[in-house]
Amino acid sequence: VNPSADTIRRLEKLISFPTVSRDSNLDLIEWVSEELAGYGLASRLTYDRERRKANLLATIGTACEGAGLVLSGHTDVVPVDGQTWSTDPFHATIVENGVYGRGAADMKGFIAAVLAAVPQMLEAADRSCFHIALSYDEELGCLGAPGLIEDLCRAGARPGACIVGEPTEMGLVIGHKGASVYRCRIHGRAQHSARAPDGVNAIDYAARLISRLCEMDARLRRTERRHPSYDIGHSTLNVGVIRGGVASNIVPEDCEFRFDIRHLPWTDARAIVHELEEFARAELVPDMRSIAPEASVVFECVGEVPALETDADLPLVRLASQLLETTAAPTRVGFGSEAGLFDAAGIPTVICGPGSIAQAHQADEFVTFGQLARCERFLRRLIDCTDFEVAGERSCL
Ligand SMILES: [Zn+2]
Repeated sequence: VNPSADTIRRLEKLISFPTVSRDSNLDLIEWVSEELAGYGLASRLTYDRERRKANLLATIGTACEGAGLVLSGHTDVVPVDGQTWSTDPFHATIVENGVYGRGAADMKGFIAAVLAAVPQMLEAADRSCFHIALSYDEELGCLGAPGLIEDLCRAGARPGACIVGEPTEMGLVIGHKGASVYRCRIHGRAQHSARAPDGVNAIDYAARLISRLCEMDARLRRTERRHPSYDIGHSTLNVGVIRGGVASNIVPEDCEFRFDIRHLPWTDARAIVHELEEFARAELVPDMRSIAPEASVVFECVGEVPALETDADLPLVRLASQLLETTAAPTRVGFGSEAGLFDAAGIPTVICGPGSIAQAHQADEFVTFGQLARCERFLRRLIDCTDFEVAGERSCL
């Protein structure tokens, strides 16, 4: 089964925009809004602080208050630095059974299928409502989506359901862990190493904080209530980056580390950070300030994605299973996504999209025609039957 030429054409175009998260996505957003304008549809854009990136929200249909279906995708892709590609990652290469290119699976294939389905949404517009929601900076910790969701609420929409098209090989996913990224900056006092006791060694204090984090991680592994659906059934902490110091004979003035919390729905990431902050405030900072009053330990949240834990009995889940013609039980995945944010905004949300997560972020990323065609079919059926009311209370079934 092959996908439509409309989907392929749009996927080729989407891949041609090198929307690596660190760069602007505005060219892509502009192209999408022109495509939509061709159908007489207006796009609402919300920007990042420097106006280098934008989210796009387009609503199709009437009766959008208290109803509607959100089709959500992120426009950014991960870098190709250091990867060996056999094709140009930013030029779609069509082969016998699929498409190669950065973002083919994660997740421009889904966006292409959604854009190709716009004519069908227009046909259903008198009885339904659809929101196309495209974000920036998902790969950096879902930085764009909160502004997009805020805009959706500002527009007066109360969608009854949301599909996030992350690559699940068109399987139905109803849960993922939460993911929070924090930065911790330690400021001490520089000194010649021969006079080390007169300085405040920022790396030394970072090390104490990190070993405290390791203890907390071990405690979670020992005592946290397990989630039976995850192969790692407890929350985890990981220090992923550390920077500090200038030379071995200088007491380092500054040190910074970043850590990431992957947590279960019932574990509060902020409480974990709060505990670490308290440790710093009560036990480290007074010590540091006895030598250098300007010393400090500062925590900063870089990105935060709530856990997704959608009730398997929701009408949306039953409907999606039926439309996917699957008897397989919905699953949970290890990666975080914007689904947690939509869910936290009170919109019942599932994840389902073409391509495999095994392809995502890899060299020679691809999506098969079979996957794109399955996605088209799923969207077609969703659009045909959609009558999503608040919280999925009423569906077409
Ligand atoms: Zn993704």
